[in-house]
Amino acid sequence: MKKDKIVFNILRFDPDNDKKPHFQEFQIPHIRKDLTVLEGLYYIQQRLDNSLAFRSSCRAAVCGSCAMHINGKYRLACNTLVSKLESNTVTIRPLSHMTILKDLIVDVKPFWEKYEHIKPYLIPGKSLPVTGEQVQSPDERGEIDMLIDCILCACCHSSCPVTASHEKYLGPMAFLNMNRFLSDTRDNAKEERLAIVNDEYGVWRCHTIYNCQEVCPKDLNPSGSIANLKMEIVKNIV
Ligand code: SF4
Repeated sequence: MKKDKIVFNILRFDPDNDKKPHFQEFQIPHIRKDLTVLEGLYYIQQRLDNSLAFRSSCRAAVCGSCAMHINGKYRLACNTLVSKLESNTVTIRPLSHMTILKDLIVDVKPFWEKYEHIKPYLIPGKSLPVTGEQVQSPDERGEIDMLIDCILCACCHSSCPVTASHEKYLGPMAFLNMNRFLSDTRDNAKEERLAIVNDEYGVWRCHTIYNCQEVCPKDLNPSGSIANLKMEIVKNIV
């Protein structure tokens, strides 16, 4: 390996030609000091192998589509600097617990189904007006300040071993977003929401491993949301 090169070791899989995934190595030059992993992937795709498949869109840590496993951690390729990886080799795998469609692209349908399952929209109920402005105080808005920052990247989903244990387990992303709607004063469906996360695939299946909290690229706290949901269930249902 030449020191003036960065090595990208990428898990490849082409369902039309491969029986199982395998690693392929690419060497790219140090284009500049603040090279991101995503820029490295584009370099490979545009100059070395145009069959390399990966997702990306905003390149600004907002869309969540370039989440992948990079040097031992789930993170966004667009805001991961190669120089911060403390290794001259960048080892990349796709997200876990989802079927690989091609190379670093996985089938995210099961992940989105979990999001849909928690009813990710305001349910005004009978006591709140369905139309017109629903005013929140700054304190009420503050309750959902962090929670609305979830970019649905699936890093937490992939890092959670309990998510791998059963396909129906809702997982950290779903719980954090459920807590987001439960904490919103414009929502009035507490009973309905708590029932969704109070079954055998709900919050009680969480083993409090904290991987979700550790990997979240937006510094969110799904574990805290799970604790809050458990507390609300105990206060309101049990
Ligand atoms: Fe991604 Fe964090 Fe949202 Fe999980 S909670 S989907 S890691 S932004």
